[in-house]
Amino acid sequence: MRGGLRSFIVLSAVSSAFGAWIPYSQIKNRGESAFLNCLESANLDPVVQGDSDYATDSSPFNLRLQWKPVALVYPEDANGVSAAVQCGAENGVNVNARSGGHSYAAFALGGEDGHLTVSLDKLRHLSLSGDTATIGSGNKLGDIALYLWENGKRAMAHGTCPEVGIGGHAGQGGFGLASRSWGLLADQVQSLEIVTADGQIRTASPTENPDLFWAATGAGASFGIITSFTTVTHAALDSIAFAYTFANYGAKEASNGLQAWQTFANDAVNKLDTAVGLQIHIDPGDTGVVFSVSGVYYGVNEAKVNSTFAPLLKKLGTPSDIFLQKQDWITSVLYLAGVDSISQLNTTLTPDTHDYFYATSTFVSAKEPMTQTASDALFEYFYGPGSDTSVEWFAIFDLYGGGDSAVTKVGPDHNAFNARDALYSIQYYGTIPNGTVSDADGIAFIQGMKKAIESGMPSTQFKEYVNYIDSTYSAEEAHKRYYPTHTANLTSLKDKYDPNRVIHFPQDF
Ligand SMILES: Cc1cc2nc3c(=O)[nH]c(=O)nc-3n(C[C@H](O)[C@H](O)[C@H](O)COP(=O)(O)OP(=O)(O)OC[C@H]3O[C@@H](n4cnc5c(N)ncnc54)[C@H](O)[C@@H]3O)c2cc1C
Repeated sequence: MRGGLRSFIVLSAVSSAFGAWIPYSQIKNRGESAFLNCLESANLDPVVQGDSDYATDSSPFNLRLQWKPVALVYPEDANGVSAAVQCGAENGVNVNARSGGHSYAAFALGGEDGHLTVSLDKLRHLSLSGDTATIGSGNKLGDIALYLWENGKRAMAHGTCPEVGIGGHAGQGGFGLASRSWGLLADQVQSLEIVTADGQIRTASPTENPDLFWAATGAGASFGIITSFTTVTHAALDSIAFAYTFANYGAKEASNGLQAWQTFANDAVNKLDTAVGLQIHIDPGDTGVVFSVSGVYYGVNEAKVNSTFAPLLKKLGTPSDIFLQKQDWITSVLYLAGVDSISQLNTTLTPDTHDYFYATSTFVSAKEPMTQTASDALFEYFYGPGSDTSVEWFAIFDLYGGGDSAVTKVGPDHNAFNARDALYSIQYYGTIPNGTVSDADGIAFIQGMKKAIESGMPSTQFKEYVNYIDSTYSAEEAHKRYYPTHTANLTSLKDKYDPNRVIHFPQDF
């Protein structure tokens, strides 16, 4: 979309605000721009190209996608966010929120050049009242988990990376190992404070602006800038982390392993306890591809873990390694984040990480589990081309459904998240090594994983997970994959709340 019609409209609008077209890199005199004047009049102190902070402030998590915003601003409160949105609207500049900045497609920077990024870094207030948390949208998952733990041993279900922001994560789903018990992070949200495209600061909840609440919990990036989330919290649970590793599998054993895993997870008679967070990890390993069944079992003892997984292990065979760890809640957060110390959850103390990568995903539904043909093709790809590439890849299978999972039992239209029929997601991720693999080849290699499944199930229209957003999709393809039955409603709500597409990115409605 970079050179498409939308970019042309955005750039034309900005150029007309500047009088004659001036490349952003040459904006020296801020007085030339009504748009920048507007931001400055609102005390938003925009960072623009040429400023010493611009390169750092506009650096994306995914270094492959270095979009150039016309300006970045750091409002201190919802009024400042509102002023920024109005400056964008009045001057024809598209606006995007940035919470943790970890969008795989760098959509907080616009997903194309020339947008206004509203960075929420200063909206980091956190409070608890009874079981209810109020969370400024600049907070990241590590800081939230730490705050809840240190203030009454409270917890929520959310993803694993401490640096991921609540804005994108909860706005578009937010899956964690405790989600089968407590739902997606979006499902744990009770109400939102949100600035809509007209600059109004609104409350959205099941009883106030319920259509906006429905849309912003699942398709949050399109419906305004959320400034604060009010969420339910839960008593933090002790748990057992488990990992059964099979370093000695070949492609056929691994495919059979996946078949056993999905049958075990999808058993309608012996329902899998919702306290189980269950995954499969596949990675190329040092000496060959490694297949590992892992996860966290909340609130139980080791004997219960052993008895629960005994029927599955009978099918999987003898693991090359078994790991079991009894842990309190915050240790489970550290374990899943792959960090050692509690201080590493405080993201104000840790520098942001970056990667140069491409990722995409598949949801496999409970009604149409992966066929043997499809899993054979997938694992032949992992153990074949996957053993002979310099792309640093991994694949993670996350169990969403099975048993009475809180993710799936709420029904298909609970909020805009459009995959309540999912049994599990698969994320395919590849770091593309600088200089040795082209972007096109790296992307094609990762897409080969998804194509392997699709070629084994040609009549299935797979859904995908919007938080693993695929940077290569057109809007039409994205809607088909992320919101197949919600696109029409989301488009009409977009027309209602943002008719001029002020808050906009290439896969928007
Ligand atoms: C290392 C890593 C691990 C991950 N693990 C998991 C996981 O375990 N489970 C899972 O579900 N996902 C996971 N993800 C994916 C993650 O949920 C998404 O990348 C998420 O969208 C990032 O949110 P963010 O606020 O950091 O990103 P941003 O780039 O700031 O935002 C992402 C999108 O949301 C919009 N947005 C951000 N804030 C707001 C707001 N306040 N109001 C409205 N729109 C907003 C942005 O404009 C952008 O379009 C992981 C990602 C990474 C990088």
